[in-house]
Amino acid sequence: MKDSIHANWQMTQQTYDENESKQVYYFSMEFLLGRLVESNLLNMGMLDLYHDTLKSLGFNPEEVFREEHDAGLGNGGLGRLAACFLDSLASLQLPGHGMGIRYKYGLFQQKVVNGYQVELPDNWLKDEYMWETKRDDKAIEVRFGGTVESKVENGHLQFSHHDYERVLAVPYDVPIVGYDNNTVNTLRLWSAESTTNSFHFHSSRGHDYYHYLDYKRSIEKISEFLYPDDSYYEGKILRLKQQYFLVSAGLQSILQRYKKRNKPLSQLSDHVVIQINDTHPSLVVPELMRLLIDEEKLGWDEAWTITEKTVAYTNHTTLSEALEKWPEEMIKTLFPRLYLIIHEINERFCKMLWYDYPELRDKIAEMAIISYEQVHMSHLAMVGSFSINGVAKLHTSILQNRVMKPFYTVFPERFNNKTNGITHRRWLLNANPELANVITEAIGKEWIHSPEKLTDLISFASDSSFQEAIAKVKHDNKLKLAALIKEQYQITIDDQSIVDVQIKRLHGYKRQLLNLFHIIHLYNRCLEDPNLDLTPRTFIFGAKAAPSYSFAKQVIKLINAVAEKINKHPQISSKIKVLFLENYSVTLAERIIPAADLSEQISTASKEASGTGNMKLMMNGALTIGTQDGANVEIAELVGKENIFTFGLTSDEVFNYQRSGDYRARDYYNNDRRLRNVMDLLVNQHFSGDDVEFKDIFYSLLYNNDEYFVLRDFDEYIKIQNDVQQTYQNQTDWVNKSIINIARSGKFSSDRTIQEYANDIWNIKPTKIGNLIIN
Ligand SMILES: *Cc1c(COP(=O)(O)O)cnc(C)c1O
Repeated sequence: MKDSIHANWQMTQQTYDENESKQVYYFSMEFLLGRLVESNLLNMGMLDLYHDTLKSLGFNPEEVFREEHDAGLGNGGLGRLAACFLDSLASLQLPGHGMGIRYKYGLFQQKVVNGYQVELPDNWLKDEYMWETKRDDKAIEVRFGGTVESKVENGHLQFSHHDYERVLAVPYDVPIVGYDNNTVNTLRLWSAESTTNSFHFHSSRGHDYYHYLDYKRSIEKISEFLYPDDSYYEGKILRLKQQYFLVSAGLQSILQRYKKRNKPLSQLSDHVVIQINDTHPSLVVPELMRLLIDEEKLGWDEAWTITEKTVAYTNHTTLSEALEKWPEEMIKTLFPRLYLIIHEINERFCKMLWYDYPELRDKIAEMAIISYEQVHMSHLAMVGSFSINGVAKLHTSILQNRVMKPFYTVFPERFNNKTNGITHRRWLLNANPELANVITEAIGKEWIHSPEKLTDLISFASDSSFQEAIAKVKHDNKLKLAALIKEQYQITIDDQSIVDVQIKRLHGYKRQLLNLFHIIHLYNRCLEDPNLDLTPRTFIFGAKAAPSYSFAKQVIKLINAVAEKINKHPQISSKIKVLFLENYSVTLAERIIPAADLSEQISTASKEASGTGNMKLMMNGALTIGTQDGANVEIAELVGKENIFTFGLTSDEVFNYQRSGDYRARDYYNNDRRLRNVMDLLVNQHFSGDDVEFKDIFYSLLYNNDEYFVLRDFDEYIKIQNDVQQTYQNQTDWVNKSIINIARSGKFSSDRTIQEYANDIWNIKPTKIGNLIIN
């Protein structure tokens, strides 16, 4: 298989060069690829053959695939989106490539010890990584620090950079295989390496060797590990170095390749487009300016025109704690030349605002790229790019009408929406082959190339034999998940129970706590009434918490404490089981999602930009219980309100509360006995021998006024959870809704998303790759 991929890979690159196809480069600090063997086999059309061959040799294919280590170079949704996009680009025959960092350690491996999260290093390169190819010949020098001098030469101001630190950026290329089409694109991952010739040895000084080792270490640190934070910004100098390292190496390699086409730089944007995945790679704007001005000797205006036409920006969050702002001093010290350029961009932008937008004069300080000694990366990205997109309709409208409103006034034509998507090849064909087969038997296989064709299933929604087939698949998948849980945790789950899952990073806004409060409430009801008629439920959590996020880690401990109590209860455990499955990752997601009945998407409205877990679960037949947030809004539009369980504050209501300041969490605690009975268990040693263990959670709700409106939405959540149980009791009705969800999920294939990027932002067309004849 690898040989065929490499042959197609070469052919693809050659065809792109010959056709001078416009290339897209997707710059992302994260690519959460998961495993590649099975999905590459699928895309190469070899999966069935391999299955049969392995079986005939006496191997279990699943066990063989399990040998591959996940490539976990991402935290969560943002990194997984980048991976789904690469799959869709190649599958749509689009010339689009990834630019990322080859972290030596990916996202930490999570263990649960005594209910607490423990982080272990993810040494994914320990055994060699079969998919990568090191390209020493394409190594690039990246420069940090030093000083900048300017002088006038031939009437032009020239800048020269001295005393900088040199870092060698070495690319490791990973092939990205398209589905059934010969296209193989490239994910280029950069590794920071030192060279002996970039270090000055003085033979007279014996300790130089140790200095060299220190120096080598300091350089290799740049691509050593992925920062384990999601939707949070930490102003760590090493993280900023990583960002520049990616940007500079990536841009230099793109310009080198472009120059081989012998086209003038003024036409760069006809051949190249750079999409940045969130603000992390925003330094592409000043770095491209630097390369064009200092290296290519273009004037400012020409360089700016090119930059503005080449760079496009995707925003992923409106959470203020996630918006990047770097200290001006840090930028100045690390990138003295870039600092001058950013300063100039800012001056020109602010002047333009002053003269052209007199009505915005009182907003200039708020819109500036540099203000109060901080560099605002999202402002830099917006000013320097031709397209600014949000990732779901609601998110884009919040950007335009609230968070980035003044920028929308200045650049209305730049704003657009691109609702996220997921690759149905990995998340349906690979993860749930049984379901894929049942679908194909009903409507044929056209949906595999054109996922919107899944709507053909609508006419089968009330067909009883199709319903039976769908129900059987779900049940079989529950048995498989039950076996995994039995093996790993020695806990037996009821295969007739409602499998209720919340799998995503642990974060206050995602409200795992609200889910847990419902569980504790059910537990209290069972204690009060041992004969309570409850449809059995299995609650599954999967979530990593950022190691420095202590609230999130306390929530993990609380989930485990509640699970321990409930699962060991002689009566209640037959109705409720609670499982925290450790080390949530792409591979674990692929096991859980096919077995899920209920998809928990319960973020505080306005806080989840899109979500993609919601899409994966819908595509696998789970019904959503969710707030009107992110892409949940679009799911509800598609399936109709009778096929989704919606509850809670709307985003406008959340904004109104935030403006007026008249939310009083304490009133909900005082006035709702059920809520009090739940919350008091956190601080009376019921779930922990220690009465201070969960007090921070309790205090954040009562004394810090419950930033995420958990108490406000509790009552509506409990009520709608009761509707869920009622609906589930009528299996025909439930399966009917499940089929409608699958049928409407085609819209959320990332093929649709990528087609929209290609048409509306990138202006690129497919390039067909010919068939290779291999002898
Ligand atoms: C899809 C996915 C996510 C994103 O989940 P959300 O529910 O959208 O936050 C995170 N982690 C992994 C491993 C995923 O596969």
